[in-house]
Amino acid sequence: MTNILVTGGAGYIGSHACKALAAAGYTPVTYDNLSTGWAEAVKFGPFEQGDLTDRDRLDQVFAAYNPAAIMHFAALSQVGESMQLPELYWHNNVAGSLTLLQAAAQAGCLNFVFSSTCATYGDQDNVVLDEDCAQHPINAYGKSKRAIEDMLRDFETAHGIRHVVFRYFNVAGADPDAEVGEFHQPETHLVPLLLDAAQGKRDALTIFGTDYDTPDGTCIRDYVHVCDLVDAHVLGLGWLEVGKGSRVFKLGTGSGFSVREVIAHAGAVTGRDVPVVEGPRRPGDCTKLVSGSTRAEAELGWTPKRSTMDCMIADAWRWQKSGHYSA
Ligand code: UDP
Repeated sequence: MTNILVTGGAGYIGSHACKALAAAGYTPVTYDNLSTGWAEAVKFGPFEQGDLTDRDRLDQVFAAYNPAAIMHFAALSQVGESMQLPELYWHNNVAGSLTLLQAAAQAGCLNFVFSSTCATYGDQDNVVLDEDCAQHPINAYGKSKRAIEDMLRDFETAHGIRHVVFRYFNVAGADPDAEVGEFHQPETHLVPLLLDAAQGKRDALTIFGTDYDTPDGTCIRDYVHVCDLVDAHVLGLGWLEVGKGSRVFKLGTGSGFSVREVIAHAGAVTGRDVPVVEGPRRPGDCTKLVSGSTRAEAELGWTPKRSTMDCMIADAWRWQKSGHYSA
């Protein structure tokens, strides 16, 4: 069996990636410090607890498993937090990824799939966001991911690390079998917050800003189902395995949903009233982030299968009702 090192494999997207890798015949080896992930989410392969900035621990894990490739998900990912505590993002995301790349280069593990973000684009009105357009992140989270993309290019030149970079738009939904799902503590993301509010597990959801320059005044985002997203990663791994060159792919559906539209879908799918209140803008939020995935569809053969808003909410709802990891 081929081992793939999955950093952040105990987290939301990483745990779904492990399931997809196992289904495709790989052995996913999770490397995670459990700062935001859950040991119970590691169900599809071995678990090695460790921090990205711990070079000795990384060296041990590379020596023990001799992975053929790395899927790098481990990161702090909250826009708001990154504005208040940027040092966490530069340390964990940037310094951590640097340590990981150094360990990978030394171990001769030269295939790298990287989980990046459309937050690297920033707020670019009237610009078609494609893989080659300029990146102007407006928050420390986006800046940290852009720095890692730069680092990957340098590590390819110097050390031959070929990479596939996926710039995600917003991710939602859960494994339809509800074996793994989204569970952050504290939760900050729109869909799980709405579903918690629909279940009465929390007070009303606060809409962050109603005065944006959009038809209903709330921010617009492009949402992709987590299972479709991780399918793209398995295709990206195959891309590297057959010797193709480094490539950036963005993953979105091309359909934008405002916060109010997501709230309406959550009410319709759950059949519950979702209590909401209107609040001020959240620092660091872009007005609109929407794009498609033309390149991923054409070159990787990626086809999103579950990325309608109603399917994402229904899968997330099933998972949220069927139980969480222990907090
Ligand atoms: N949002 C909101 N209230 C919340 C959480 C999120 O209005 O309690 C909005 C947020 O401002 C953004 C959208 O929902 O416009 C998606 O935010 P999320 O944090 O889920 O993802 P992000 O876009 O930051 O990656």
